[in-house]
Amino acid sequence: MNPRDEKFPEESLDPTDWEETRALSHRMLDDMLDYLRTLRERPVWQPLPDAVREALSRPLPLEPEGATQAYEEFARWILPHPMGNIHPRFWAWVIGSGTVSGMLAEMLAAGLNPNLGGAEHAANHVEAQVLAWCKAMLGYPAQAGGILVSGASMANLVGLAVARGERAGFDLRRLGLQQQPRSLTLYASVEAHSSIRKAVELLGLGGDSLRRIPVDEEFRIDPAALERAIAKDRAAGHQPVCVIGTAGTTNTGAIDDLSRLAAISAREGLWFHVDGAFGALAALSPDLRPLLEGMEGADSLAFDMHKWMYLPYEVGCVLVRDAEAQRRTFAVEADYLTRHRRGLAAGTTWYSDYGPELSRGFRALKVWFAIKEHGIRKLGRLIRQNVEQARHLARLVDASPELERLAPVPLNVVCFRFRQPGQDARTVDDINREILLRLQESGAAAPSSTTLNNRYALRVAITNHRTRREDLEFLVEQTLRLGRELSGGNG
Ligand SMILES: *Cc1c(COP(=O)(O)O)cnc(C)c1O
Repeated sequence: MNPRDEKFPEESLDPTDWEETRALSHRMLDDMLDYLRTLRERPVWQPLPDAVREALSRPLPLEPEGATQAYEEFARWILPHPMGNIHPRFWAWVIGSGTVSGMLAEMLAAGLNPNLGGAEHAANHVEAQVLAWCKAMLGYPAQAGGILVSGASMANLVGLAVARGERAGFDLRRLGLQQQPRSLTLYASVEAHSSIRKAVELLGLGGDSLRRIPVDEEFRIDPAALERAIAKDRAAGHQPVCVIGTAGTTNTGAIDDLSRLAAISAREGLWFHVDGAFGALAALSPDLRPLLEGMEGADSLAFDMHKWMYLPYEVGCVLVRDAEAQRRTFAVEADYLTRHRRGLAAGTTWYSDYGPELSRGFRALKVWFAIKEHGIRKLGRLIRQNVEQARHLARLVDASPELERLAPVPLNVVCFRFRQPGQDARTVDDINREILLRLQESGAAAPSSTTLNNRYALRVAITNHRTRREDLEFLVEQTLRLGRELSGGNG
């Protein structure tokens, strides 16, 4: 034996005892299934004990602690202290709930561990299949481009990157924005998501170039104000490039008049991007689909599957009507990425040519799995169910003299507050903030909050396949109980 081999015996990260690993694996799976099956019996969320923070700020391990030890610590410190979004009574922000089979598909994807940057292998074709299904379900042409990304923030970034390059009118990839004499301007409503602003900033356009257009009383963009803003910018020598519509605003679920925005964009020669993070998926319900009329006319469309398709994090998607434009924005040549006609480096679509990332995980598998397992009709029914639940909550709010609804409910978001006669604005805000914190800290339910027309609102966004109507009835009861208690026990 070569003496070098004794000094550096070869090792790998595979198990040394596969049977032991098999037993641990089955235990993990059983524990997770038990956990998910009994979610409803636990509090939604609980304040994090100090012991957890301590357990999760230990020194760097140099020697093995072993998989069993790592799992036991997971079971002790992490599993019992969830965000709560898997619970039936979680409705904060717009957060998806995940699925059992999504968890299993994630395991399969991680086991196979392909890289979806490119090359010829089945996983790449799974992504192509999923994108083809997305186009079909949202009314996009089959030859359109697209890519799966981590979420709608990234999908918006990709869509706006294509918009910027395609409408700049010069070779933006080569020149950048350094020599651009006129500023490129973009348009979105004041209710557009913060990720739009982030994307505009990251693309070097500057936050000020994003013109924030006012909304009507239903929180939809005011198209006349949009037209005036475009005209004003042109008159001032700026170069309008893109209109961004929102299908389902985060605050209230409002849907901009997408047909109107498509028409304005076409007339003005602007790129039309739609942020449909959760709202776009309402198209899966035949009853809700008419709300989204005009969405299929977008040059690019961003949406999430970890919100209203209930899949585990992370997965979002952007579709781009002109696949070549998407490729023109991102494709780069490199010697080490040379394609061949045969062999591993063949393959028609290298997804690294269609987005900013080279190495990409197999997030497509959980989407493929879910669509095959449930079918699009069932997913559409669940989305519709959430909208019906939101309407049910809105009716309960409207029927209670001590509750006040603060926005229309076009989709799955309900904003409301507790209020008794004679309470001033400040008191009402304070009471509602305290109601929210007590609901969360007691583990009863997890709405979040927002501010609408200067009024603090409890906000319920239902992208949760586990929610039942009785959960919302419970929320109303608890809100009334806490509100009355905080108002001094009267009422
Ligand atoms: C959630 C959301 C986003 C951001 O999506 P992520 O998946 O969190 O990156 C963008 N736009 C809207 C309207 C959203 O609701």
